[in-house]
Amino acid sequence: MDIKRNIMKRLNGKVALVTGSSRGIGAVTAIALAENGAKVIVNYNGSKNAADEIVEKIKSSGAEAIALKADVSKEAEVENLFNEAIAAFGKLDILINNAGIMMTKPIAQTSTEDFDQMFNINVKGVFNTLRQAATKLHDGGSIVNLSSTVTRTLFPGYGTYCATKGAVEQFTRIFAKEMGSRGINVNAVAPGPTETELFLDGKSEEGVARLAASSAFGRLGQPEDIANFIVNMVSEDSKWVSGQIIGANGAMA
Ligand code: NAP
Repeated sequence: MDIKRNIMKRLNGKVALVTGSSRGIGAVTAIALAENGAKVIVNYNGSKNAADEIVEKIKSSGAEAIALKADVSKEAEVENLFNEAIAAFGKLDILINNAGIMMTKPIAQTSTEDFDQMFNINVKGVFNTLRQAATKLHDGGSIVNLSSTVTRTLFPGYGTYCATKGAVEQFTRIFAKEMGSRGINVNAVAPGPTETELFLDGKSEEGVARLAASSAFGRLGQPEDIANFIVNMVSEDSKWVSGQIIGANGAMA
């Protein structure tokens, strides 16, 4: 066994971009990647102060990070995001497609505007970053897309959100085949209910408790549960795994 390799931080020398990492799962993922040795780009759209705080937190631990604004649904802003990230750190090895929004409404009550907003951010956002990553991610890199366990539980009210994540899962399976020749693995993680603003927003205490009870561990997921798993997914040890959708949901589904 190579003992030196085990002592070194797993992501030393790697540069990671986490979309939507000003808050929630993305913010904790950015911190976890940095703790494991990566230099991190904290992307945000609306929450500049929160993004700056995450960068400061990472820097205070001795790691490197910068915050870059970009609305992932805008092609030109995403192109700029990749160029600025590479200009700052010289290359990009890891892409975490985390930015996303959720509205829960029966399909009959979902407006065209709701549909467009969710598809623009959750699907076009991923489409935009994957097209940049196709040429700009370093050979041997890793991509993790955020899906959702609702693609398995199929709860009423989640139709349009679930459809966006279905699209993300299919991008994942096909992009993995398109990127394999460059040694890039592409997977998706499908979190179950995870305690963030996106999940808690608009839910009653009773509704939250019911969902917490539906995991085998009888609790909600925490952003750290997802972030730590993402670190494993982008580490060298997971390289042979590609094109997979992996549930991180305490055996919920
Ligand atoms: P969250 O707490 O609401 O955070 C969402 C993040 O996405 C924020 O940092 C936000 O940044 C960013 N964002 C939103 N629109 C953006 C845009 N147009 N461009 C760039 N960034 C944008 O959400 P979360 O719960 O952490 O969710 C993260 C991901 O996990 C999402 O893809 C979500 O669908 C998925 N997920 C979450 C759960 C859950 O239970 N929480 C379960 C399954 C899957 P700004 O505030 O700076 O705009």
